[in-house]
Amino acid sequence: MRRRRIYEGKAKVLFEGPEPGTVVQYFKDDATAFNNQKKGTITGKGVLNNRISEYLMVRLAEIGIQTHFVRRLNMREQLVREVEIIPIEVVVRNIAAGNFCKRFGADEGTPLPRSIVEYYLKNDELGDPMICEEHITAFGWAATQDLDDIMQMSLRVNDFLSGLFMGVGLKLVDFKLEFGRLWENEEMRIVLADEISPDSCRLWDVETQEKLDKDRFRRDLGKVEEAYQEVARRLGVLPEAGPVDIKGPKVMQ
Ligand code: UDP
Repeated sequence: MRRRRIYEGKAKVLFEGPEPGTVVQYFKDDATAFNNQKKGTITGKGVLNNRISEYLMVRLAEIGIQTHFVRRLNMREQLVREVEIIPIEVVVRNIAAGNFCKRFGADEGTPLPRSIVEYYLKNDELGDPMICEEHITAFGWAATQDLDDIMQMSLRVNDFLSGLFMGVGLKLVDFKLEFGRLWENEEMRIVLADEISPDSCRLWDVETQEKLDKDRFRRDLGKVEEAYQEVARRLGVLPEAGPVDIKGPKVMQ
């Protein structure tokens, strides 16, 4: 079957879905870091992120967080509702790491006095600059009411996921969320979109502080594939076939 490719990003391809208002997200093994300057492949990542994100989106839906997720279709694809992506990356931080340490001269691993929500503009050419509410409302990327919803949902996601990961011995250090507008008749709702995976979260082992996320790729720490597998294993979603379909199918068009 030939499907129309809507968009190709760094880690995913979006295809037109089987019914109007749906989209298929195909998860690739490609990884990028430092605004595309570093490129690589993490074998099996797409398969694992598809499962991990499915699992987390379903758990979040159970507590009443509305998401774009419909169902997983196969090893590398999931069906989602078509939304209008709000061009903002919402980062929630619990512990100082990454960019935050650079920006504020904090030591990595310092617990923050409370969870901090930050906004970045989704714009590769500009290197995703950090922005604040003023920029978002002045340029019309989102209305004040939308931002209130986004902030509330982000903090709820943080509380829930922090507990969920703690239950499997992982600290949720920080993560990035994206939201979309879902139109139904004349009504608009803001829903959680994109993915939640070790590509978009920092996860540290509670006992050893070992990093089990994309920082292993960013910083050449080795055992990158193993880290993604370990997160999937702890969440109980590691495919039984073992270390997954290795090379994976080529993206079909
Ligand atoms: N993040 C992401 N996509 C981005 C930037 C950040 O998923 O384009 C995630 C990243 O994995 C981390 C959190 O958001 O869990 C905070 O990242 P940070 O701002 O520290 O940037 P980094 O140091 O990763 O460049």
